[in-house]
Amino acid sequence: MHQRELFFKHVAQTSPAPLGIEVVRADCATLYDAQGKEYIDLIGGISVANIGHRHPRVVEAIRQQTDAYLHVMVYGEMIESPQVRYATALAKHLPDNLQSVYFTNSGAEATEGAMKLAKRVTGRTKMIAFNKSYHGSTQGALSLLGDEYYRNAFRPLLPDVWHYNFNDDAALAAIDTNTACVIMETVQAESGVIQPDRSWIAAIRKKCSETGALLIFDEIQAGFGRTGSLWAFLNYEIVPDVLLLGKALGGGMPLGAFITNKKWMDQLTDRPVLGHITTFGGHPVCCAAGLAAFEALLDEKWMEQVQEKEQLLLQALVHPKIVSVSSAGLWMGVTFASAQDCKKVIDSVLEKGLLTDWFLFAPHCLRISPPLLIHPEQLKKAAALIVEACNKVL
Ligand code: PLP
Repeated sequence: MHQRELFFKHVAQTSPAPLGIEVVRADCATLYDAQGKEYIDLIGGISVANIGHRHPRVVEAIRQQTDAYLHVMVYGEMIESPQVRYATALAKHLPDNLQSVYFTNSGAEATEGAMKLAKRVTGRTKMIAFNKSYHGSTQGALSLLGDEYYRNAFRPLLPDVWHYNFNDDAALAAIDTNTACVIMETVQAESGVIQPDRSWIAAIRKKCSETGALLIFDEIQAGFGRTGSLWAFLNYEIVPDVLLLGKALGGGMPLGAFITNKKWMDQLTDRPVLGHITTFGGHPVCCAAGLAAFEALLDEKWMEQVQEKEQLLLQALVHPKIVSVSSAGLWMGVTFASAQDCKKVIDSVLEKGLLTDWFLFAPHCLRISPPLLIHPEQLKKAAALIVEACNKVL
């Protein structure tokens, strides 16, 4: 049986129409399939490969760590150098109130940990989340997800979770002394890259401080230079109480983290002890890979090119069928009149060797979130292919 048939038979499917590219190699911002076809990767594994696929420093760090040890013990018991070094490096680039890092397996687990932390620290249960937000697919994270179509089949979910629209003042009024946390993406990803208004997000920060609700920023997609700043919250000059990281955090290996101050994090060690347990969270190979990726991102100064590359794309992505482009750094939603139009363009450029995608809550928007090190010539070619597809299929 061919690999394709075995994939459909034995590998669990999450949608009726997977991309189904038989990938055999990935380097920088290019994927290669079994037929020898090349694809420009315009989505970077959905904001994972910020420093590209298989960066040599990441590959070398993985090799060195596999020579030393793999998993040795559940999280938090042993002093594992990759965890210590990576947590220290992250802390060096974070504000004073975000100095204690809990490494997890995934973004969803980071969300779960943060929700538990908020309950434990405040003794409250009410949580405020946002429509069209995504924080993961586990039951707690799903309770926060802002779309009834995706939530409904899995009810009952967590009680006392309230959803508001992004940038809506009604959310402000809802934050009170019963609120454990407000959880939001610093830039809303799956609604098609929507940024908060500066005054609104500042007012959310203020209301959280006044009421004692924890402000949790999910930067699982927005972090690691995607918006041109290391962390997207730097763009708004406010600081969250808890930060969620994932995706690019692991440099291509599975890793998430929730980060807060030491005093609050220590509450997970007490009443009950072992307030959050993970076997593989902070896996030494993933932390070694993530640290190498983080250092490469900073040393090689990829963030400094983000704005120029953003402008290059914005200037090239002009066509009567493109309704608008919302962008936050090297991260864009290209809006079409309908989901059908968007899909036609995605399918057409895929044939030509350009990998894009749509957004979970905005299927009429084409996703752009390439490796930050993508070559400008690749970006020009990608934009030209999108414009050409608009001419051809719309
Ligand atoms: N938060 C955001 C903003 C995400 O985009 C995702 C994943 O797409 C998650 C959380 C969940 O991360 P994971 O898929 O690693 O569980």
